[in-house]
Amino acid sequence: MSAINPVTSKALFESDAFAQQYSYDGPLGPDYTPQGTYLRLWAPTALRVSVNLYRRGDGGFCIGTLPMERREKGAWTIYLPGDKHGLYYTFTVQTEDGARETGDPYARAAGVNGIRSMIVDLRRTDPPDWAEDCRPDLPPSRRAIWEVSVRDFSQDPASGVPRRFQGKYLAFTLGTTTLDGRGACPTGLNHLRWLGVSHVQLMPVFDFGSVDEAKPLRRQYNWGYDPTNYNLPEGSYSTDPFHGEVRVREFKQMVQAIHQAGMGVVMDVVYNHTYRYENVLNGTVPYYFFRQNEDGSFSNGSGCGNEFASERPMARRFLIDSVLYWAREYHIDGFRFDLMGLYDVDTMNLLRAELDKLPGGEEILMYGEPWQGGQSQLHRYEANKNNLSMLSERIGVFCDDTRDAIKGGCFDARTPGYVQGKPGGFWDIGAAVAAWCRSDRLSPRAPSQIISYVSAHDNFTLWDKLMLVRYKKPDFMTNDTIALAQNRLAAGIYLTCMGTPFMQAGEEFARTKKGQGNSYRSPASLNQLDWKRASQYRGLVDYYRGLLALRAAFPRLGSGNREDADAIRFFSLEPPLVGWQLDAAEGDGACWSSLLVFYNPTENYKSVSLPEGEWRLLSDGISSSLWRGELVTRNGRVSLLPYSATILGRWN
Ligand code: CA
Repeated sequence: MSAINPVTSKALFESDAFAQQYSYDGPLGPDYTPQGTYLRLWAPTALRVSVNLYRRGDGGFCIGTLPMERREKGAWTIYLPGDKHGLYYTFTVQTEDGARETGDPYARAAGVNGIRSMIVDLRRTDPPDWAEDCRPDLPPSRRAIWEVSVRDFSQDPASGVPRRFQGKYLAFTLGTTTLDGRGACPTGLNHLRWLGVSHVQLMPVFDFGSVDEAKPLRRQYNWGYDPTNYNLPEGSYSTDPFHGEVRVREFKQMVQAIHQAGMGVVMDVVYNHTYRYENVLNGTVPYYFFRQNEDGSFSNGSGCGNEFASERPMARRFLIDSVLYWAREYHIDGFRFDLMGLYDVDTMNLLRAELDKLPGGEEILMYGEPWQGGQSQLHRYEANKNNLSMLSERIGVFCDDTRDAIKGGCFDARTPGYVQGKPGGFWDIGAAVAAWCRSDRLSPRAPSQIISYVSAHDNFTLWDKLMLVRYKKPDFMTNDTIALAQNRLAAGIYLTCMGTPFMQAGEEFARTKKGQGNSYRSPASLNQLDWKRASQYRGLVDYYRGLLALRAAFPRLGSGNREDADAIRFFSLEPPLVGWQLDAAEGDGACWSSLLVFYNPTENYKSVSLPEGEWRLLSDGISSSLWRGELVTRNGRVSLLPYSATILGRWN
């Protein structure tokens, strides 16, 4: 066979004959035992493959090069007798294209910058009691996701995190940090426990390429949406990126600590493209793992130079193997797929079915961005928002319709949404509340497919967006009381929407990036969470906290089932007010037999009439914890504060 010509390689790799001849389902990657280690690589177009051995993750000499044996279906293997833990290696893959030295796509550990793979005894990387670590039980009613970059979480010197752990995995292992270490205002994991979110979503934590792990990090910053090794953690977040086992152990310590705090860990995974053309996948089977244009060149549906060919059988297998590996080895509780619209529906459903087979696997979250980053060569059904009806009910999507309806579109900074009084904006709010199950714009199978949110790492923070709509030249550091009320209203809406709520870290304390809409490589100082602000905006943090707990106290709101969305009754109110009622489901343990919710996006007080019965005020536009104290009864009518969400509950 010839794989030199990109055009013929495209035809070859897309042919049924190739799929039949080379779809390999045996083991791949390093297989360590104390007696010896197998290395296995899938490289069907290779003429020769050898392994190069090194004592160190970088520098030093190659201590031996050994030929590998060709086995069935394009697999190559070698057995290295003896305890090889700590040995570094690369492959030299000779194709008709020439020879390439490459890391192992299935590497479990690697040296600095992920260039040399490492054989690792994974049991030696387990922290104490790791075998007892398990995923916390987090039913749909309690789910709320909080998204953060490892770096942003603790880079702020005021975070109370010791300097050596700032910006590192290990910052998550400190459960009692406070602002400046003074014992008053919780920060880090301590803050999260107080807030009451269920899942921490980590922005890329697989090994990425845009930060040089060998150089000081002070002047470097990147979100990391640029994978180099899919099956091992990023080194710059570890305390020692030069020794491959350290990042593995510290990552596990982080997961264990988050689990012990009662929360799950979601990984942001970016299989849709790789950082460079020279990468471990292209190095082993040139062109196979990436979609190609008709002329054989790489297509660019990711907007980052290439796109992963999830529909090709061994690429699909690679993606599924990798997700299952993180779930098993690192006890990950959920996966968030970057540019999920670049994967085919079949791959995602197959992955869902494979995760479901793991112990407790049905509870592992799967959701993603239902769009692409450019013109794609995926000629299958895409895992995007038009094809929700083809995706599993337990594969969710970020709902940009909900996001934009509440706070305005994210491409034009000045576009208002419902909370800023956009005329006619109320139409979409009801649809968002019912997770679009009752709208013709989207056709989710159930609320479980909808992620309700108003801010994520991309685009303006919620605070910046509110300020940019209000002022031509905003001072983002001003404590603007109207923007603050609009912020509470935005939270009051999406935290009472069906579907899974999601927030960008720091949204709950008016996080600002000073109007920067894309900070992926802005300085750490702009990106990092400003923990002083968490103290300054304590009232807003409490508002989120109260709403999250209130939501959990009324489980039907978090239900993933379609009939629960159908049970919402909307009132006919004077626009732009929106009001609705939802009765508790039989025996679901709700604190109230019925919930009543009103949104008022105007600058005026509004009075609305209440349905029959005795209602108690649970939350208004200022306090979301009224339900925890002495309850105020309302009969007949209730007054809605300007820019407010008002929630009432019926006792019986
Ligand atoms: Ca890296």
